[in-house]
Amino acid sequence: MATVSIRNLEIDFGTVQVLKTLNLEIGEGEFIVLLGPSGCGKSTLLNAVAGLLDVTAGQIWIGGKNVTWEEPKDRGIGMVFQSYALYPRMSVRGNLSFGLKMARTPHEEIEKRVAKASKILQIEPLLERKPAELSGGQRQRVAIGRALVRDVDVFLFDEPLSNLDAKLRTELRVEIKRLHHELGSTMIYVTHDQIEALTLADRIAVMNGGVIQQLASPKEIYRRPVNRFVAGFVGSPG
Ligand code: ADP
Ligand code: MG
Repeated sequence: MATVSIRNLEIDFGTVQVLKTLNLEIGEGEFIVLLGPSGCGKSTLLNAVAGLLDVTAGQIWIGGKNVTWEEPKDRGIGMVFQSYALYPRMSVRGNLSFGLKMARTPHEEIEKRVAKASKILQIEPLLERKPAELSGGQRQRVAIGRALVRDVDVFLFDEPLSNLDAKLRTELRVEIKRLHHELGSTMIYVTHDQIEALTLADRIAVMNGGVIQQLASPKEIYRRPVNRFVAGFVGSPG
């Protein structure tokens, strides 16, 4: 669990300003959803928090520490992407253990964490299988498991369900919500799906054009959108 503080963050790609002096304070254990149309800057914001790109201006603080120039691995974060980038030649167990092995975690500790994560995600029967033998939903559980075993303070999700069919999406949505209850970790979750945002979030940051248009609870956003964009994008009761 950790707070995340994004302060006057600006990101330019060449001459294009993709994030415009953005501020966002996220509480310990809070589930924040970044919601907005394609191209509005959601992934850019998430990648900046993860340390996967350089910021043009501003700061990022995680757990009370300025991490703006820290390596991704030193930020206490775990990231789950839309495409489940699993190592195809390794078993599920291998995929879950790999990062910990690289970090020279003791063998017994790895075993313990893999057992715990696979129990939470209900993938225990799959541990000796290869990714090719798994369904899309199972693969995405393993991808979440890889963040889980690292015992991170903050989970970052970038449209983790958008490659799945509707039934699986609903199923994993419930799973992610349960995970949040169980772990109490801070979560930042990117999606362009209104339903996902409304069902998962403690607070939603509705983004458009590199700016947060509204930051509020799902209820507040739905009932009292601050402008036409938010009303149109989230859908209002009319
Ligand atoms: P979202 O995740 O909301 O769909 P992105 O954060 O991926 O949006 O992209 C925001 C904008 O920045 C888009 O216009 C995209 O084309 C542009 N962009 C993203 N990454 C790069 C990059 N590496 N170089 C140049 N432009 C980029
Ligand atoms: Mg994106």
